[in-house]
Amino acid sequence: MKKNEKYSFQSETKQLLHLMIHSLYSNKEIFIRELISNASDAIDKMRFKFLSNEHSDQKYRDMYIRILLDKKENKIVISDNGIGMTKQEIINNLGTIANSGTKSFLKSLNKENKKNNQLIGKFGVGFYSSFIVSDKVIVRTRHAEELNQNNGTLWKSDGKGEYTITSITKKEYGTDVELYLKKEEIDFLEDWKICNIVKKYSDHITIPIEIQEYDKKNKVFSWKQINTAQALWTLEKSKITDDQYKNFYKHITQDMNDPIIWSHNKVEGTQEYISLLYIPSKSHWDIWNRDQKKNGLKLYIKRIYIMDNAEQFLPSYLRFIKGILDTNDLPLNVSREMLQENNITHSLKTSITKRVLMLIKQLTKNNSQYQIFWKEFGLILKEGIAEDTKNQEKIAELLRFTSIKTNCIEQNLSLSEYIQNMPNNQEKIYFLTADSYATVSTSPHLEIFKKNNIDVLLLCDRIDEWMMNYLTDFKGKKFQSVNKIDDDLNKIVHEKSKSNNSLKKINTLLLKIQEVLKEKIKKVQLSYRLIDTPAILLIEKDAMSTQMSKLFMAAGQNIPPVQYIFEINPNHKLIKKISNLQDDKNINIWIQILFEEALLSERGSLDNPNDFINKINQIFINS
Ligand code: ADP
Ligand code: MG
Repeated sequence: MKKNEKYSFQSETKQLLHLMIHSLYSNKEIFIRELISNASDAIDKMRFKFLSNEHSDQKYRDMYIRILLDKKENKIVISDNGIGMTKQEIINNLGTIANSGTKSFLKSLNKENKKNNQLIGKFGVGFYSSFIVSDKVIVRTRHAEELNQNNGTLWKSDGKGEYTITSITKKEYGTDVELYLKKEEIDFLEDWKICNIVKKYSDHITIPIEIQEYDKKNKVFSWKQINTAQALWTLEKSKITDDQYKNFYKHITQDMNDPIIWSHNKVEGTQEYISLLYIPSKSHWDIWNRDQKKNGLKLYIKRIYIMDNAEQFLPSYLRFIKGILDTNDLPLNVSREMLQENNITHSLKTSITKRVLMLIKQLTKNNSQYQIFWKEFGLILKEGIAEDTKNQEKIAELLRFTSIKTNCIEQNLSLSEYIQNMPNNQEKIYFLTADSYATVSTSPHLEIFKKNNIDVLLLCDRIDEWMMNYLTDFKGKKFQSVNKIDDDLNKIVHEKSKSNNSLKKINTLLLKIQEVLKEKIKKVQLSYRLIDTPAILLIEKDAMSTQMSKLFMAAGQNIPPVQYIFEINPNHKLIKKISNLQDDKNINIWIQILFEEALLSERGSLDNPNDFINKINQIFINS
């Protein structure tokens, strides 16, 4: 009698099992997809082993995935002759949730419990989906490197809280998954039903999937192949339907949403490769986690599966792209490390990057689709402006902005459109960055531009300030931040607004301001930019911007305070009022308030807000 060892599932696993059984009743059939996908992964690993190990003394066998429907015992057995699992592997793989996608999915559920039902269907729920239809599951497996037939492992569970492990004899290496169906699920024993499900989800799997047939006349069993088993990407484009492309995407990504667009290319010549690249419609949960190794393409070499998540073929700013690369130019025994410093990898990366940028450009032709893309991946794409200077112009072409004239928070204006709409005498592309749309769209810096009907790009994503440091021109036009001094501004504004205030009084006020604010400002001068605002802060042409200094401070860096140029609007009622005041003490407080107001508008915060409030209260009392 073999010894049974009892184990308890990890608590996360229990949670997942419970959730799945209660949420997936409308989409039960996916267990077939999941188990076939596992079998196919195991066979891919096995194939790779055979090919990379020339001295292997094991005989190469035909690879297959077999489905047996046993109506007597109400069970389905899905077998593969893939790599199999050792005892320790089975404990790790089928007792815990190893898959990080599933883990973060679980985390997200705690916050959004209400959406469980829709959400769970969008995930590759993996092996545990067997329990949606079964009340008992038995896995028999032997690792391919385990030559002793007596060292197989049996795993058994009812999916409630525990599983047992027993050692068994297993003749062939590989894995059999036996599902003992719940009474109400015996429909799944009909072979037409299984065939339809396999066709629907797993037709493109390159390994034959076979079902057992019984020939009543001759009373013999035989195996019949039910999938096409041809690598989709090797077929002619014209022979592939959109549905096939979409299903293949879902198979390789475990994403249940359709991709937005894809590009399938066969390249021959100095480079030889096939690429099938997809833009998803939703980003992966972990897209912002840079440690996450879930990015990259599925790599095949001469049709042989080599590895998942080969991120060496895409720059980081295109990490949302999914797909496969099948190349003839790399050796089969290539390792991740070898890929890193390989010239072939670099040239493949260059040409795949070009293809993806072309694909995104193609997407811009459809505005509504491009908005879906831009909302989901725009922030990531913006990283490319700094990361990939060679393709900077191409990437800049793909950026979308809000502006004074678009007058909405949606980013849907391209740089080319901006340039087309520029008046003849405008030479620069004007922009302004701030923390939020509300702040940037109401900034007093825009007053002069609004008055003169000149558009300004409004940028408020976190990455924007950093990006604009790298983006200095586009199609020969320079970028100009509207909160920096601009010698050319007077070329495009109609006229300098002349002060109709007494010049003498204003000059006295200017002197007074310099005296009160001292080294807090670089200098004070009259403004012709302002209409409704009394005072504003500007920055010298090459000085560090407010947003940049905020980024540095947030990163804990000690940097000297920004040296502002303080401009006052001589036509504003408040400025006139102050210039007419007699009481020196009062004027002092007013000047400080003016400055701090401008600082608040520019920076969004003050070093000492209470001090500012006290001054305002003081003024109220005095008036
Ligand atoms: P995932 O496939 O996303 O990793 P699963 O829950 O489907 O998650 O499977 C968990 C792990 O169990 C797999 O990663 C694999 O290591 C192992 N596994 C499952 N089925 C098989 C199989 N038929 N042969 C070998 N290993 C398997
Ligand atoms: Mg799986």
